[in-house]
Amino acid sequence: MPSRELENFNKRNPRLAPLVQKLEEYLRWLAEQGISEVIPRVAAAKLGISEADTLGLLTLFQDAYLVKPRYDLVCKATSSVLGSFYSLDDVPDQAECQFCDKDHDADDLRVDLVFEISHQRASNAAA
Ligand SMILES: [Zn+2]
Repeated sequence: MPSRELENFNKRNPRLAPLVQKLEEYLRWLAEQGISEVIPRVAAAKLGISEADTLGLLTLFQDAYLVKPRYDLVCKATSSVLGSFYSLDDVPDQAECQFCDKDHDADDLRVDLVFEISHQRASNAAA
């Protein structure tokens, strides 16, 4: 049973309903694999749509409390995650990197947007 927010959205946007369903199935499959986050680029490839469209769908899922955005601060040189933040405002533009053993500034860092799958809401027990 999809959430009421998604149901209402599907009624207003019947053309997108199949994509919403596909993304829902993908999230459920990820959760079953014990994976707790969605990477927009990977989800886009899975759904066969653009990353921009995928972000639009994920924003909708976010409004329905099915996913939560998270910003990972990543060292470009090693692709290591140095920290995770729930607000873009909290992401620092400098960070000490224990992998390179030096301080990085914005040029050495990138921010990856991922969406955490909300497990309570995904369970069948949700009203
Ligand atoms: Zn580094």
